[in-house]
Order: sequence, then C-alpha cells, then structure tokens
Amino acid sequence: RAKNEGRNTYRFYDPQIQAHLDAKVSLEADLRLAVEQEQLCLFYQLQVDEQDHMQGVEALVRWIHPNKGMVSPAQFIPLAEESDLILPIGHWVLETACRQLSQWARQPERAHLSIAVNVSARQFRQHDFVQRVQAVLAATGAPPQTLKLELTESLVLENVEATIAKMLALRAVGVRFSMDDFGTGYSSLQYLKRLPLDQLKIEQSFVRDITTDPDDAVIVQTIIAMGRALRLEVIAEGVETREQQAFLRTQGCLAYQGYLFGKPIPIEQLEPQLPSPT
Ligand code: C2E
Ligand code: MG
Ligand code: MG
Ligand code: MG
Repeated sequence: RAKNEGRNTYRFYDPQIQAHLDAKVSLEADLRLAVEQEQLCLFYQLQVDEQDHMQGVEALVRWIHPNKGMVSPAQFIPLAEESDLILPIGHWVLETACRQLSQWARQPERAHLSIAVNVSARQFRQHDFVQRVQAVLAATGAPPQTLKLELTESLVLENVEATIAKMLALRAVGVRFSMDDFGTGYSSLQYLKRLPLDQLKIEQSFVRDITTDPDDAVIVQTIIAMGRALRLEVIAEGVETREQQAFLRTQGCLAYQGYLFGKPIPIEQLEPQLPSPT
C-alpha cells in the first residue's frame, strides 16, 4: 500500500500527533494505577465572606505522579472524563471530602464549614448518583448541609428534567448546589429560575479584568444582579486583588475565592488557618 501511495505517504504520519497520542495513552494507563495506588490528593481553597471570614473550602483534586510530580486536574480530569476513570476518581473525591466534613462536624467552631466538590457530568449521570451521595454521607457521618456540589452549565443543560429531579432528591436531604463557571455556558433565565440552586459561582475569566475592562464589569454586574434577583448566593472565583473584591462587594457579591485569600493547599497547611477554640 505504502508503495502505491508513493512519496506522499509521509503526509499521513505526523510524528508530533503520534507522540501526543502516545503520551495520552501512557498518561491514561498511569491514571488507572493512580486511583488504585492512592496517588490522588485533595487540596483545599478558602471561600470567605464579606468580612474575610472562612465559610468553607473548595476541594480540588491533585495527582502526585511518581515521576512527573504534580499533574494539574486541567490535564487529567478531561482525560478521566473520556474513559470511565472519572467515576472512581469522583467517588474518591466525594468520600475524602465527606470524611473531612465529618471530622469538622465534631468540633463546634468548625462545624459550620462547608466543602464544595466538583461533580463531572459523567458522574452525575450515573443512574444511582443520588444513592451514592447519600451512602457516602451516611457512611462518613458528614452533615449534608455542609456538602456543596458544584455543577456546570453544560452538565445541567444536557438534560434539564433529569438534572432537576436528582438535585431535588439530594436537596431533600440537605445537600446544596452551586453552578460553577457561571457565565461561560448558555443557561437562560428560564432554566435558572427552575433549577434548585443555592449559589452561582462567577467564572474567573470575567473576574480577572473587572477593574480594567468595562465589558467584563458589566457582565459581572449582570450576573450578580441576576443571582440576587433569584435569591441565590453569589460567589466570585479567581479574586486576586482588593480592588476586584471591592468592586464585587459594591455590586452585592458577598462571597469570594481566589489567590487573594489563598491558593489551594493540602490539609496540613489548611489546618493552622482553621477556626479553633479560643
Ligand atoms: P474550577 O472548579 O473552576 O476550579 C477553580 C480553578 O481555578 C482551580 O484550578 C483553582 O486552583 C484556580 N484558581 C483559584 N483561584 C484562582 C485565582 O485567584 N487565580 C487563578 N489564576 N486561578 C485560580 P485547578 O485546581 O487547577 O482545577 C481546575 C479545574 O479542574 C477545576 O476548575 C475543575 O473544573 C476541575 N477539577 C478540579 N478538581 C476536580 C474534582 O475533584 N472533580 C472534577 N470533576 N473536576 C475537578
Ligand atoms: Mg469548581
Ligand atoms: Mg470554577
Ligand atoms: Mg474554572
């Protein structure tokens, strides 16, 4: 065959693409082992209120690869979502976060802290997702009101009716919901009104330039106004400066997450920042 195709054959072989595919396959194989060999780790990033008091944290998964070191979730979560690997990963994250919540619940000064857990579409679509979350809550003893599940607009819009049904079932036991990266998708007000949400989380790319880009300022103003009109809590992510925080506050956004308050850190580093008995 190659002979017939003659000297143009090379066009069909791009070593760069091949190398990329090989790397992907190898990373996926490593990821499979990572779940079994407990190479995953949860980092936590502070979420604060208008007085800079800790409300809770967002759990962000990290993969400590044996030779590559720390691999970003931006790299391996999409890969995990292509295979079914996201299911054991997502379950491990939920379980680990709930175990943490249950520990905090036993300390009065920490009992109010929440953990936000990112849920991927594939995970949420499992037919027994609701029962799985309930089982983890029961097994760990985490207070359901302290667990916040972060969903994305694309997940929600994939199948609005089924999504609402699952959200209502979990909300009935006290679990709360936040819409992550809000503003990047296509949620209409109509859907937003029907979704049993507790919080809108403003996408960080809008927050980044609010003090310099009037368009972003208007987008963020609109999101905050919309959230407040629907009686949702509004949190901004990616807050890095006091100026951004001040702008957000004057618009009525009263919860913040971002490097200004702290980067995602392992539990040992978070521990000394947690409220403790005085
Ligand atoms: P996300 O849920 O929107 O998380 C926010 C991301 O922004 C995190 O990146 C966080 O480290 C980063 N970030 C926070 N504050 C700032 C800031 O002030 N400036 C800048 N430039 N960045 C900030 P990270 O940890 O790399 O996670 C990336 C994404 O990976 C997450 O976006 C989420 O979609 C996904 N992810 C992380 N953990 C999980 C998980 O356990 N399950 C699932 N399904 N997805 C996860
Ligand atoms: Mg998130
Ligand atoms: Mg986000
Ligand atoms: Mg994001």
